[in-house]
Amino acid sequence: MSEQGPIVIVGGGHAGAQLCHALAGAGLGAQVHLVCDEDELPYQRPPLSKAFLKDTQQAVQLHRAEPWFAEAGITLHRGDAVVSIDRAAHSVRLRSGAVLPYAQLVLATGAVARTLPALPVTLVNVAALRSATDALRLRGLLDTAQQVTVLGGGFIGLEIAATARALGKQVTVLESAPRLLSRSVSPDIAEHVLATHRASGIDLLLGVKVGDFNVEGDRLASLNIDGQPHAVELLVMGIGAAPRTQLALDAGLACDNGIVVDENLRTSDPTILAIGDCACFPEHGSGRRLRLESVQNANDQARTALATLTGQPAPYRALPWFWSEQGSLRLQMAGLMPADGVRHRRTGATPASFSILHYVGERLACVESVNAPLDHMAARKLLETGKSPAPAVACDPAVALKTLA
Ligand code: FAD
Repeated sequence: MSEQGPIVIVGGGHAGAQLCHALAGAGLGAQVHLVCDEDELPYQRPPLSKAFLKDTQQAVQLHRAEPWFAEAGITLHRGDAVVSIDRAAHSVRLRSGAVLPYAQLVLATGAVARTLPALPVTLVNVAALRSATDALRLRGLLDTAQQVTVLGGGFIGLEIAATARALGKQVTVLESAPRLLSRSVSPDIAEHVLATHRASGIDLLLGVKVGDFNVEGDRLASLNIDGQPHAVELLVMGIGAAPRTQLALDAGLACDNGIVVDENLRTSDPTILAIGDCACFPEHGSGRRLRLESVQNANDQARTALATLTGQPAPYRALPWFWSEQGSLRLQMAGLMPADGVRHRRTGATPASFSILHYVGERLACVESVNAPLDHMAARKLLETGKSPAPAVACDPAVALKTLA
């Protein structure tokens, strides 16, 4: 072991797995301990609300097979969790009782699916989706249910709704906001998403107030929507996720909508980093604090963490991007939607394919694409290089966006 000393990573999700890969690439695998609360090897979460739910034969998609970790020299602690951090002693205690010393600690604890206190997922017909275990359970429930109610019209709720519809289920989505995806996409995209799901047969109710729940024995029997009872066969909660910060809070680290980190992803204790869904970081340029839940953010923050851990810090400046697959819709976003932008529409080859370009002044700030993957890839290049073609040029269907990138 080099003088750098042990690096303990807490959490084997996208961020933890990607950091293992980066550290192994830097020849530091033998110093790494990866502690994974879940029994599985690190796996991909996005398929869990999409292909995995549809096909009972599908297995979880692993980031790396088990021999890879051994060959990289990484010590895996599966089905075990870090329960406390002793910052003075530079060590963590695991649920199993083991104590691991660290020179540097990385918190990659992710997020948990939000649930409602009145609706425990222990009810046999209520589900939430975050982990492979949740997805296996939901897949079993979907197998027998004919009618599915999804609470929440966010990305994961809509992905589950589209998957259930593709399985032939009768699907109702209940959204309390007046429109879908209100925090994440523009009204243009939200309207298209709404129309597409409704055309596929999903019953989508906006601006609804969900009141009391009627539980009979171990089942949810119905819920009251705007004062009327709505019978429930299977309820899936898609009401967002909350960062897993308890470990950090207990250790006295600063937390505010996630574990607070600086641009090099160091927490309020410089020997401890936080990355991925659990980390709240300063946005380059604006300094406003962001917490993103995306594979891009987890992967890119793992790269930044490698730089910090190896003493060559490079601030986190990656372009945010995201995708969501909902039945026939492939949504892709590059950049963050500005509050004060002007929107321009770039039409695609069919009405089901287009992009919305957001400009702040003359600067291209964000591009949302629907079934237009080439636009998305070109947009990422444009945004990464800071190029801003004039809206009329960028929206000219005769000009391929990639030629401007
Ligand atoms: P996670 O992947 O949540 O991993 C955190 C891990 O830490 C978990 O395994 C947890 O059990 C473990 N852990 C927590 N506390 C401890 C502890 N004390 N000790 C040990 N282990 C601990 N993003 C996209 O960009 N596109 C998509 O289409 C998309 N689809 C998604 C679909 C679903 C169903 C879900 C749930 C997420 C999806 N996401 C998508 C989001 C993306 O998966 C997350 O942003 C990403 O997983 C974040 O990685 P992470 O490592 O920060 O957290």
